[in-house]
Amino acid sequence: MKGRHGTTDPLLLIPGPVDVHPSVLATFAQPVVPHYGAEWTAVYNATVDLVKQLFMTRHDAFLIPGSGSAGLDAGIGSLLKEGDTVLIGINGYFGGRLKEIALTHGATVVEVTAEWGSPVAVEAVEQALREHPEAKAGLFVHCETSTGVLNPIERIGPLLRQRGVTFMVDAITSAGGESFRMDDWDIDIAVSASQKCVAAPPGLAMVAVGPQGWKGMENRARKPRGWYLNLLTWRQYRDAWADWHPFPVTEPTSNVLALKAAIELALKDGLPDRISLHRRASGLFREGLAALGIELVAEGTYAAHTVTAAVSPSGAESSRLIEYLLASRNIRIADGMGKTANKWFRVGHMGGSATDPRIIEALLEGIGAFCRRR
Ligand SMILES: *Cc1c(COP(=O)(O)O)cnc(C)c1O
Repeated sequence: MKGRHGTTDPLLLIPGPVDVHPSVLATFAQPVVPHYGAEWTAVYNATVDLVKQLFMTRHDAFLIPGSGSAGLDAGIGSLLKEGDTVLIGINGYFGGRLKEIALTHGATVVEVTAEWGSPVAVEAVEQALREHPEAKAGLFVHCETSTGVLNPIERIGPLLRQRGVTFMVDAITSAGGESFRMDDWDIDIAVSASQKCVAAPPGLAMVAVGPQGWKGMENRARKPRGWYLNLLTWRQYRDAWADWHPFPVTEPTSNVLALKAAIELALKDGLPDRISLHRRASGLFREGLAALGIELVAEGTYAAHTVTAAVSPSGAESSRLIEYLLASRNIRIADGMGKTANKWFRVGHMGGSATDPRIIEALLEGIGAFCRRR
């Protein structure tokens, strides 16, 4: 197949980074502009407003230079100090990353686990809350990108809120791609990244904070360590330098402009329409895999629409399938992560190529041809 935008570059069907629209790339390629002054402040604030639409929040949002994990580290480090108890949902690789980050901040981690491929059970969260009344925060991944499972965030939020436990969600492959309602679901801190659902270049973490999130940071006995990834620093500068430089550091202006263009493009027909795009793409792909007799990892209502994980056909190492699709179809898909490496494969349904039905058909045809060769 022809590659991206008429080049020979492989079509990118991995769960991030994803294909960036040519109009967004054109924005990215403009001469660099400075990161302060009234004009830039208006651009930055308009981008923050767009980010708030993605998270469906009326509260605060920040664009932190860095990948999604910078946003996770900022949220967790601002909230937790040594000895604080935190509940963490772990049913895949990225739940494990939340734990890894929380441990570096000295928190005591209570794991709420489920098998890779299953969602975290609401009952297990309830039980952990009963057993750990000292819990200060709960950290959960919405779309677990390693398995394509959606966790029941909308049901977990009210449980934590009832007990005054701060709720932080990794929405990196859900905000802007799935229904994600920060305020309605009692989420206090939400994190996403530019290179996933909204299909901008990598480089910016998007972090939203509600009133209970701020309260959780203000109520700590010792202020957060560190300055850059401390959300209180970001709030302080947003307010103190509001009229010319509403953030503490040099914003990567080209990345912000590209993110703004990408979100405007994503939301041009409204968020519900954008979400349907992922639903159609994942539905088409899942049906095609099922028709080939390939086992899907996530089932039914908890299957994500932004990423699909499946078991590699007829016991083949998934690296074989990945190499075959790249060599014969010029399509790049992703391997399983962690313990599922070389056993599962993953396909992202974010960005232009990955949601194009013709490209999904071509991918399915390639996977079918791989199956028949064996
Ligand atoms: C991609 C991803 C991350 C990591 O994001 P980086 O931008 O690589 O730091 C974290 N969580 C989830 C669910 C992801 O999909």
